[in-house]
Amino acid sequence: MFSYRHAFHAGNHADVLKHTILIAVLKHLALKDTALTVFDTHAGAGLYRLDGDYAQTSAEAADGFVKLTTSQLKEPLAPILQDYLDTVASFNAKGQWKVYPGSPFIIQRQLQGRDKLKLFEIHPTDSKTLSANIAQLEVGRQVAILKEDGFEGIKKFLPPPARRALVLCDPSYEIKNDYARVPAMVADSLQRFATGTYAVWYPIIPRPEAHDVPKKLKTLATKAGKSWLHATLTVKSSKLLQGAEGEVIRPGLPASGMFIINPPHTLKAALQLALPQMVALLKQDQHATFSLESGG
Ligand code: SAM
Repeated sequence: MFSYRHAFHAGNHADVLKHTILIAVLKHLALKDTALTVFDTHAGAGLYRLDGDYAQTSAEAADGFVKLTTSQLKEPLAPILQDYLDTVASFNAKGQWKVYPGSPFIIQRQLQGRDKLKLFEIHPTDSKTLSANIAQLEVGRQVAILKEDGFEGIKKFLPPPARRALVLCDPSYEIKNDYARVPAMVADSLQRFATGTYAVWYPIIPRPEAHDVPKKLKTLATKAGKSWLHATLTVKSSKLLQGAEGEVIRPGLPASGMFIINPPHTLKAALQLALPQMVALLKQDQHATFSLESGG
């Protein structure tokens, strides 16, 4: 049933967009002196070896974050992109890029002693690997791993005790139903806890249900009277390619988006600097572009 393994994709362009925004949001939330609870509804394995079998198979990291490490841009990296690169670097020996931190480790790095992290991961192997990886941090009860459905599991935790939370929702969308479950989860969560920050990643692929995700989230946020931010990054055309023998070749993921409800007020300006640089560094053809819109 579950064939998606994030290890194949760790550090790709979608991770650059998602994790840059994740770090920027967390850094802003850390400025307040009240306990924060972070939920990662689809956590993955937590840490990925880039020289292991999985990541080598696709080498998506080479077209992803690695491009930032060799930036030829005339100007310095935008602050939130530099923060992202510094975070990835902090998991590696100087000048080496062998490990890529998934969202659980990226989040945990930004937490303070008072904060909590709840990780949902349903895949038996990834959940086991995640538990083993997190155990090495020796952070005790700060981080909880729940081997259960993140869409459902989050319900029992909202609202959180100190009424401050970030929810990252990053499914693999390998089950078509995920496209509908994401806005349903956000709608339910907003009713339980309207002031939380919600960050949803989704793929931009030629499927109507994928395009519906940001539309539905926009409607939900607007109806709830909440502010929102929607950023997309396209690195190449989504057109199907033809192989030497006439076979159809899928181009791989061409683009993705992040939709944030109740974003930090500083995030839009920060992304206005970072997104053009992501395009310049990660573009694979002339279709590369970005978009950034906000409301509420
Ligand atoms: N958030 C991770 C990161 O940024 O490093 C990547 C997560 S990956 C895109 C999605 C993960 O969700 C996979 O590891 C998959 O096994 C898991 N998953 C799929 N359906 C799930 C569900 N209903 N509840 C919890 N985890 C699920």
